[in-house]
Amino acid sequence: LYLRQRSALNTLLGTHYYRDGSYLYVVDRHGRLIYHNNPKEVGTYALNNPAVREVMRGQRGAQQVRNNHQVAMLAGYAPVAATGWGIVAQRPTEATLQPLSRLMSAVIWNAIPLGVLSLLITWWFARRISLPLWQLARNVQDGEDTGNAISHVNGIRAWYFEVAQLKQAVLYSFNALQDRIGTLNRASRTDPLTGLLNRRGLQQALDALQAQGLPFAILTLDIDRFKSINDSHGHDVGDAAIVHIAEQMRRHSRETDVLCRAGGEEFLVLLPGVGIEAARQTGERLRQAIADEPFAPVGTITVSLGVAHFPSFHTDPEQALRLADKALYLAKEQGRNRVVVYPHAD
Ligand code: GH3
Ligand code: MG
Ligand code: MG
Repeated sequence: LYLRQRSALNTLLGTHYYRDGSYLYVVDRHGRLIYHNNPKEVGTYALNNPAVREVMRGQRGAQQVRNNHQVAMLAGYAPVAATGWGIVAQRPTEATLQPLSRLMSAVIWNAIPLGVLSLLITWWFARRISLPLWQLARNVQDGEDTGNAISHVNGIRAWYFEVAQLKQAVLYSFNALQDRIGTLNRASRTDPLTGLLNRRGLQQALDALQAQGLPFAILTLDIDRFKSINDSHGHDVGDAAIVHIAEQMRRHSRETDVLCRAGGEEFLVLLPGVGIEAARQTGERLRQAIADEPFAPVGTITVSLGVAHFPSFHTDPEQALRLADKALYLAKEQGRNRVVVYPHAD
């Protein structure tokens, strides 16, 4: 075998692809190069090369090595069992990895727009999912007027099942709360025995009338000798008599009249938009009706009434109420079961 001259080995191995810096060589069992594409290397020993050492031990495989010029190479090797030779093919690591890194950067550049797009889509969906939740939370914690909160919550687009359920639950509890507030509000303005307004309800009605600037007449009513009803028939019958009077008042009043139990056996009626003479007539009809309809356990019950008008005699409604009381006091003084009108009270 002529190592440095043309031989079958040269012909066979010379066709190997050398252009990108890869090459192939053959060592004998002593680690001496018997073929190399650089003829100067032939005959030298390559024992420093770990791939050569491996192949001399009869191993086959691949590993990263450095060649004589300290260039990083990927080496593949295999022994030829019959001769004890080893064949090693080496290729610069860089040449091997270059197409890979080109591929990598192509992948990255192609993936960036897609990544940004999917980020945007994810953000958009996350926003659409969280928006109704955020709106619900804001309306629950705001502590604003329940009616407003209900209309806000109604306006929230619940486009998926969980939010629809939440919205329904929030609306349910808001409505329940509003019902409860309504009930308590009514209760706080109402006298439980007669169902007429109490003093607080009267004050609200007065404020509303004043806000509207509506004139009104005032009737004050007090049961005559009520103490004796209590004394002869007991407190419960006294209560029933109070309820009886309240019913008579309802029967003889209009929708717009404000009926109030001012306390004990004293009542008060506001007649919006009614003049003093019409109010006197209303009071007279009521007095007559009560006197004409005996109350079973007691017999005939009579009442006395005082009449005043706002703002005819005073610019202050509280003062007008006091004038009606004064007229009532005079009705008592003049013998009860009668209507007295202020200013004829004096
Ligand atoms: P007058 O004709 O002067 O009004 O005589 P009167 O007895 O009705 O007057 P007075 O104001 O002195 O008595 C009212 C009584 O009404 C005193 C109180 O015992 C009784 N009373 C007050 N509130 C209630 C109530 O809610 N139920 C009952 N049963 N009695 C009440
Ligand atoms: Mg009385
Ligand atoms: Mg009284």
